[in-house]
Amino acid sequence: MIERALLAKPRGFCAGVVMAIGAVEKAARQEDRPVTVYHSIVHNHTVVARLERERGVHFVEDLDSVPALPGGGDTIVFSAHGVSPLVRARARELGLSTIDATCPLVTKVHTEAKKYAREGYTILLIGDSARHQEVIGTQGEAPEATLLVGVLGKTGEGLHDPYTVRVPDPERVVVLTQTTLSVDDTRRTVDILKARFPALLIPPSEDLCYATKNRQDEVKRIAKQVDAFLVVTSTHSSNGMRLLELAEAECGRALRLESAADLDGLNLEGVRTVGITSAASTPDDLVQAVVERLRAANPALVVSEEGEWEHIEFREPKKLGPNGMAL
Ligand code: SF4
Repeated sequence: MIERALLAKPRGFCAGVVMAIGAVEKAARQEDRPVTVYHSIVHNHTVVARLERERGVHFVEDLDSVPALPGGGDTIVFSAHGVSPLVRARARELGLSTIDATCPLVTKVHTEAKKYAREGYTILLIGDSARHQEVIGTQGEAPEATLLVGVLGKTGEGLHDPYTVRVPDPERVVVLTQTTLSVDDTRRTVDILKARFPALLIPPSEDLCYATKNRQDEVKRIAKQVDAFLVVTSTHSSNGMRLLELAEAECGRALRLESAADLDGLNLEGVRTVGITSAASTPDDLVQAVVERLRAANPALVVSEEGEWEHIEFREPKKLGPNGMAL
């Protein structure tokens, strides 16, 4: 029987996710034609399914398909992960109005990429996949100047190895990162690059976001006290999968769930104390449903959460017409 559940705090939605989902919901309420989102607004299956089912929102991976969508929507929302300038330009060509729900902490990395490319630097952009939407968007700001570098242990699929990556001018090289990587692996990767390129420029403020760091810190704090960790996340959530890896490394037994229904397939044999956390894109009602299901199966379960919630909010984005003017 499971006796204790330690709920991570913070867990779940970050300020960027709250802002992005809020932007889609507001647009869906206000627009008289269906709203379309370029890519999943955040990387969680339940969030996307609810917006489709309850708000009639369309999700596309190709802007050219927007004009042919049922209802003829003419407003596109860019997801929290950001987009490349090519996508923005195509939206203008198609005459689409835009709502840019890119997280401001991703926009900050785009701004850095543009600045350093203008100044003649080679940008080493550390990421966990060349196919991640955030990596594609950031690289798109300065494609000629950017080399993707795999975070420690991840190479292939368009990612250079930090031990072997070559740059045209080792005196003019800067490192930027995806916002949602493992804090520890990113630090080690930067250390490798710094050893290879002593002049490596590291921007004054880190690119890893506060939500990524706080959720990883909390997993580390709890992991030593539990027999297993449950991580509620979709597989395509970068920050969620990093929590899963960290929990596995720290407590030796981490299990992923999409929702409470997945508990049935998990082996919790011998677990007396369990930790629970969730990705920055996971709605908290999914976590509460996991807790309720555990409680139903373990009537004496004591649930506790310590930690602190974050108090960060991002401004909602404005709708812009195809000419870039606010509507
Ligand atoms: Fe922004 Fe970080 Fe949340 Fe991503 S995880 S949306 S970068 S705050």
